[in-house]
Parts: sequence; C-alpha cells; structure tokens
Amino acid sequence: MFRRKFLSAALIYAFLIPSLAFAQGTAPAKVYTAPKSDIDKIKDEGLNHSQVMQTLSYLTDVIGSRLTGSPNLKRANEWTRDTMAKWGMQNAKLEAWGPFGRGWALKDFSAEIVDPQTIPVAAFPKAWSPSTKGSITGEVVFLEIKKDEDFAKYKGQLKGKIVLMSAPRDLKADFTGMGSRISDEELAKLAEAPDPNAPRTGPAQPAGPNLNSPQMQERLARFLLGLKAMNFLLEEGAAVAVDNSREGSGGTIFVQGADVAQPVPANFMEIFTNPNRLTPQQKAAESKMIPQMVVATEDYNRMVRMINQGVKPKMTVNIQTQYYDEDQMAYNTVAEIPGTDPTLKSELVMLGGHIDSWHAGTGATDNGAGVAVAMEAARILIASGLKPRRTIRVGLWSGEEQGLFGSSHYVKQHLGTVTGGPNLFGLPDPSGAKPTLVKGAEYDKLSAYYNLDNGTGKIRGVYMQGNSAVRPYFEAWLAPFADMGAKTLTLSNTGGTDHLSFDSIGLPGFQFIQDEIEYDTRTHHSNQDVFDRIQGDDMKQAATIMAAFVYQTAMMDEKMPRKEFK
Ligand SMILES: [Zn+2]
Repeated sequence: MFRRKFLSAALIYAFLIPSLAFAQGTAPAKVYTAPKSDIDKIKDEGLNHSQVMQTLSYLTDVIGSRLTGSPNLKRANEWTRDTMAKWGMQNAKLEAWGPFGRGWALKDFSAEIVDPQTIPVAAFPKAWSPSTKGSITGEVVFLEIKKDEDFAKYKGQLKGKIVLMSAPRDLKADFTGMGSRISDEELAKLAEAPDPNAPRTGPAQPAGPNLNSPQMQERLARFLLGLKAMNFLLEEGAAVAVDNSREGSGGTIFVQGADVAQPVPANFMEIFTNPNRLTPQQKAAESKMIPQMVVATEDYNRMVRMINQGVKPKMTVNIQTQYYDEDQMAYNTVAEIPGTDPTLKSELVMLGGHIDSWHAGTGATDNGAGVAVAMEAARILIASGLKPRRTIRVGLWSGEEQGLFGSSHYVKQHLGTVTGGPNLFGLPDPSGAKPTLVKGAEYDKLSAYYNLDNGTGKIRGVYMQGNSAVRPYFEAWLAPFADMGAKTLTLSNTGGTDHLSFDSIGLPGFQFIQDEIEYDTRTHHSNQDVFDRIQGDDMKQAATIMAAFVYQTAMMDEKMPRKEFK
C-alpha cells in the first residue's frame, strides 16, 4: 500500500478524488450465482489443500525484499511468471513499463556507537542511499531546526559528521496490543457509509483539500524545513543523515526512500507539478544525496539524550550500496487462465496486487500477501477443475510504492486513459479541457478487477467504490462466506492501491475490506514486514474468497455493471 512520508494526507486525499464524475450503474434484473457444488470445490481446494503459504515463503524468505528496479524484483517477476506457467496458466510473461529509473541493492551495512562506549544500534539505510566512503567514524550531531534562523549555528560545523535530523519521539507503553480486527461496530459503520459520489450537503466546499488549513500549512512548513536541512547537509559535507523511525518501537524501524537535496518549492502545488523534481531512483539524484539511514527510536532517543547531557558520541557507519543502470524499465507479471466460452473467452476478469515492496523487510504484508493470494486464487480455480467462461488474468504490479506506476501504465497500455479534467488535487485543467475518456483495446472487454493490498488480514467484505449496481452480486457471492467473517459491503471508496488505476477510468476495480492485524502498528513499510507476521488462516480465507469472486464474475452472462460518466 502506497504512503508518502511528509504529505501522505494530501496525497491520499488526492488519490481519492475521481478524475471523472460518475453516476451509479444500473442494477441487474437477475443476479448470477454459481452452483453450491462449484463453490464447495473452491472452498475445499482453498481451505484444505492450500499452497498460499508455500508461495509466500518463497517470495519473501528466498527472494526477499522487492524494491522497484532491483534485481530482487526482477527475480520475483520471473519466479511468479514461471510458477504460474507451471500451474498451467497461459501467456505468462513480463510486461515492461517505464522508464522507471535505476535499481538499487544494499551490499554491506553496519552502524554502532563507538565512543564513549561501544553500543550496537538497530538501523537500516534508506532505499537508493549512496555509499559512505568506506567505513567512516564521526561525531554524532543533533541538528535541531525549528525555524530558518536555526541553521546559522551549525554553519561550518557538520563536515564529516553523522547528523541526527529528526526530533526524538516519546514512546508509550503498549497497553492495548498491536494487533486488531475490524469490530462489528466498525463494520456496521462501513456498511452505512453514504455514496461517495453523491453531491455533498451543507455549505459548499472548495474543490480539493484545503491547502490553507493550519494542519496543511504546518505540514508544508515541516516538509520545507526538512528539505532545507537536506540541502544544508549536502552543502556542509555531512557524512551521514540519520532519521528517527517515524513509528514503532522494540526494534521496529520504518524506512522508505532516500531524500534528495533540491530547490525548495514555493508552495504545495509545485511539490507535485514541477517536472524537474528529482526522485532518488533517478541517476541525476545521486550527486544530490548523502548516505542516509533510519535508526530505531530507542537508540535514536538515547543519542539525543547523551548529546543533551553534554556527551559527544561518535559512530562508525558503513553503508555500501549498488546502483543498477543497465535497464531503466520495470516489469509487471501477468498470466492467464483461458476462458472456455466461445463468445465470452475474449472478455476478461482480472485480479492481482503489487509485487514490489520496500527494502528493509521482505514485503510480506505489503504486499507479498496480495501476490500470494491472487496467485493462489488462480491455482485454486485450476486445481478445482472448474471451467470459467471468461479469461481470467492475474496482474502483479510493480512501482506501486512510488505512486501506483505499474498498474497505471498497464491500464493506459491496455484499457484506456483520461485526458484533461481536474488534476490530482481536484482543481480544473488550466486549459479548460474537459475530462475525456480515450478507450484502449481492452476497455470494453474487462468485466472487473479485484485487488488485495491491505496486509495479511482476512477479507471482511468489499469496498464498492460508489458503484451500488454491484451490490446484489456481491451480496449473493459473499453469502457462502458469512461464517468466515466476510459479509460487509460498503459504498465507500478506499484508496492507496492499484484498483484506483482501473476505477479512475470508470472500470469496476475493487479492493477488499481486510482486517488490520498489525499493518499500521508494526509491518507497513518496516523491517518487521516479514513472513512471521503473516496469519496463515487469514491468507487461506482471502484466497478462497478471491477465487470465488473471480469465478462468479467469469461465469455470469453479462459484464459487471459499470459506473456511468455523468
Ligand atoms: Zn506499501
């Protein structure tokens, strides 16, 4: 699941705004449901002969982390392709998109406090961080910047230093536990959620998020100070930039991509609209970065407290990384179960999730789980001997973590695109162009796309993305799984992942409602996103339900009803 460091609220809001206005589709006269014997076969295969954990173990334990552009991700693309082909799927292949940028891998790493005493610290380099010049030892300095004037006192002080850039963070005792499932009350609330496309009542709201709100202004100010600090460190010749883990404790480190020193934008809009903004995967960013790592909060806080006590600790840090520039493209893995109906086999039902991950863990809950479940759903259908009428296509997307890139390129290449209309912030096209749908070759062929990317939690229902016409289908299809905890339909949209690439051009794209488990508290983008945090029974339940939904969609006479453009 996609999350940006500083501006997540703005971005998540942005991705929730449809670029087109939709009216609800028309409900069907008669709802297809597969015979009970078919669903029983799917349940038997999915619950009693599951291979989902074996698939996930290979993907996470053997292949490991899957940063977009990295050799590991390429290997995962190839292994998932070959595995699905081995199961009897057709047209298993990699599809290139891009250029994305360079690959990156960690080659060697150590970090410890060496003076006034030896103290190992828990730490992890940020993705695309450059290397230190060998193993370096330097004084640890706490850069405390609350306003622009604060930079002056560090001028000329940081050369060769290891610089703590973030504030210490208070840790609270964990009285409630890290894991949770969605409560009945929360499910009831979701079920009653209004149509997200309905006109809003009450006083008129400006289009897009309120960029002038105190919270947004504070966020922007913090973002800009962080960027100025990175520029300052580069100018001053600091050796390593160190951040505090933004969440978690007890050895959990949340870590994403490296920060790039670059011109400070004048305002919010420019952050997203400036085409020259560098991302760390671009080669041109290398000379604008210093080596960077995130340290576990207990260790980070201790260093700040030592400095505040008048101590000048030293660290020895060795970050050795490798860039891969030969191939700037990235790849999605796709594979099919061919349909069997002479007419309907040219139509498609798709399922999938993103295969890329961040690099500190093994991308188990984000999103090895979704990959293993989608692959397993296809395997269940093959092993059950069922004969889907439409062609079923699995899509495993890359570049999701950098902004849904793999799935949005795929949708553009195969299904269609929208030109003109509001930008990501819901503001009108400057040229006044109205949103126009340009259909791709398969736009009229796709019935629906089902996505899984909210962690290891079992399926509790479906987000209908404001498409009430699908309710009678989904109601009937969830019924055989009510005793397994999946019975809630919500008209709500959900964001942050690849179904949006389909939904944004009016195609039925759905993400399931899933139990949270430890997603936000422990695993999502952390070094603890590993196989041991996966709940096996939840995975089997999810794969079984996904297989049943895909099968039902492949069997009905008509395509899934779509939202209509207003
Ligand atoms: Zn993610």
